[in-house]
Amino acid sequence: MFRGSRDSRVVLTWALLAISSGLLVGKGLFEFFLGGGGLAELALSIAITSLVASAVMNARATGAEGERRSSETESFSRIMRALSRSVSPDAVVEAIVHELGAATEADHVAVVRLRPGGSVLDVTFVSMLPGTPTSNMVMPLRQLEPVETHHMRELPLPQANGNSLRPVDGEPQSLWGDEGDGPREPGGTSSEATDPLRRNVRARSRTLGPIEDAARAREVADRIASQLRDAYGLRNTLAAPLQSGRWISGAIVLSRRTSDVWGEAAVRLLNSAASEASAALARVYSHQAAESDARTDQLTQLPNRRYFDEYCRLLASRRRSTDRVAILSVDVDHFKLFNDQYGHQVGDVVLRGIANAIQASIREEDVPVRFGGEEFMVLLRNPSQGIAVEIGERIRQNVREMDLLDVGVTDRVTVSVGVASGKRAGETVEDIVERADRALYAAKGAGRDRVVEAWHSDVAQ
Ligand code: GH3
Ligand code: MG
Ligand code: MG
Repeated sequence: MFRGSRDSRVVLTWALLAISSGLLVGKGLFEFFLGGGGLAELALSIAITSLVASAVMNARATGAEGERRSSETESFSRIMRALSRSVSPDAVVEAIVHELGAATEADHVAVVRLRPGGSVLDVTFVSMLPGTPTSNMVMPLRQLEPVETHHMRELPLPQANGNSLRPVDGEPQSLWGDEGDGPREPGGTSSEATDPLRRNVRARSRTLGPIEDAARAREVADRIASQLRDAYGLRNTLAAPLQSGRWISGAIVLSRRTSDVWGEAAVRLLNSAASEASAALARVYSHQAAESDARTDQLTQLPNRRYFDEYCRLLASRRRSTDRVAILSVDVDHFKLFNDQYGHQVGDVVLRGIANAIQASIREEDVPVRFGGEEFMVLLRNPSQGIAVEIGERIRQNVREMDLLDVGVTDRVTVSVGVASGKRAGETVEDIVERADRALYAAKGAGRDRVVEAWHSDVAQ
């Protein structure tokens, strides 16, 4: 009751008050009943008793408020501690939902985040009832209309293979990115779903726009809450926006089955948690963006050699005996002469064009890499019979057909391609790369502008 009855001074004060008021009331009552005292003594006793009772009630109320504040502070510091350890967006969500739900007496907590690419929101909906599984849902951004469309804008992104590439310099920081660091074993049907770098390379084309003021951010958060009410049949919600500077990137929404009004403490805690979660998400995303930058070739925006090496190491550590890998080694023909004739800058335009031609020729699950200089590599996972050569041929054709008149190039640019598939027992990816390089060398020797498969070149040696 005394917010830390350990505080001996408070205990002493209350003890002195109790003793002295007890003595005074006792004296008053004694004089009234036994000592012939008058009504004045009785009135004094009643007044003292009321005074003490009101002091006790007041102290109780203050104590309860103090306890609420202290448990709010403790909840907040637990959230802060968990957030500081979070290294992925999912961990950030995990760090806040349970504590926030328990501390605010919510039945559900939903965290809604803008997905990289900017066209959908990822909803993580957690029930506080033990044993109830977490539900995940995707909410199209257009569902928030008309509120947010006003703030959306297309970013002027360079295009490759019809997909958006990374954002241009100077773009205001907004929350974007994805889970996980570095390359991962692609296991599903789409490498973009499992491969963070490729997803980052094809990152957002749209994002929620600048928010003029806090009211606007609240409006978007409320709109998100209203969508969740419809989707999950919720009655009583409380929402706070996730924001990074002037950019809004989602919301945290609490819900209760009852119609009890949300207390001030719940509102305070939700707002603080949302602001800390926003900062933690921004930190995680910017770390991932930096990681992604280090693995991206800046000229072509393709994954670079560092990424390729890491990817290969990961494949080697997880490779199952049934997995097959094919490598295409692609090298521009007579590129030194080309640079001499047209200049280095035009050469750079050509390299970007070749990167686009490669992307346009491959499947989603293939990994294109700028290996260095005018050399590219494509890694194919589990290619079916003959597909590697077919893709090599497609790349060669697409490069040949590049229209470079805009930059004053009338000659055809060509590439040679060496292809090697992982058919041999015990062969590492590096071994396959080496065979692809030998095949490339053979293609150069045979006159360039052609695709040679390693198997044949190896037999020929
Ligand atoms: P080959 O057909 O035998 O491959 O001949 P090549 O001239 O293409 O091969 P070489 O290795 O002799 O020369 C490679 C050239 O690629 C030299 C270099 O100027 C050019 N190059 C490498 N990186 C870049 C780049 O980033 N931009 C430009 N414009 N040129 C580059
Ligand atoms: Mg070369
Ligand atoms: Mg070359």
